[in-house]
Amino acid sequence: MSDNSLDKIVIATRNLGKVNEILDLFQSIKVPFGTLADHPETTDIEETGTTFAENAELKAAAYAGQTGHWCLADDSGLEVTALGGRPGVLSARYGGADLSSPEKMNLLLNELAGLGDSARDARFVCVMALADRPGRIRYSAEGECRGRIALAPRGNGGFGYDPIFSPEGFKQTFGELSPLAKNKISHRTAAAKKILRYLLGFTDVAT
Ligand code: IMP
Repeated sequence: MSDNSLDKIVIATRNLGKVNEILDLFQSIKVPFGTLADHPETTDIEETGTTFAENAELKAAAYAGQTGHWCLADDSGLEVTALGGRPGVLSARYGGADLSSPEKMNLLLNELAGLGDSARDARFVCVMALADRPGRIRYSAEGECRGRIALAPRGNGGFGYDPIFSPEGFKQTFGELSPLAKNKISHRTAAAKKILRYLLGFTDVAT
């Protein structure tokens, strides 16, 4: 086995919601997947980038360095057009790192209160980056899911801003849709499909 063999891919996130979605998306790949929970030696990487791509790539490279395995990292967030793309790369820290998801959603709804209907246009963005064992970025891909911010949170499914985001073509929010329905159209799926195509180019990777 060469030093850089694709023997395992570590999903480089501590967000269980994301881990589950990513595992679902890569079911057709026979390379085993791990998570950071299998690597207690890893320490958190600060997201110092100013774009989703920078953050995804810095996390993939740094966790590959820490674990010695290929690593798949993502950076994602919600961009609201009327807010100039905010919260964007700061989605996880919007309003301060200590706010809960319901508090973050309320903050966003308050910012949009009183603005017209068109102010509710938004999109989820995800960039996924794959680093090899020495930490070189092999591939990076962006996916998006366009939609609108609901008037109030609806549904308990998913995570983060899901209860206030209605994807284009749906009355329900991501919080109301099943995981299967969300995974068909999500920004993470769109990015993952591109990574999947890249991985399928390796021999012995498809089931
Ligand atoms: P990060 O990618 O870990 O920096 O965090 C992105 C943040 O954006 C999450 O903590 C959520 O608040 C939000 N986010 C990203 N993807 C989704 C999604 O699919 N549903 C809901 N919120 C999301």
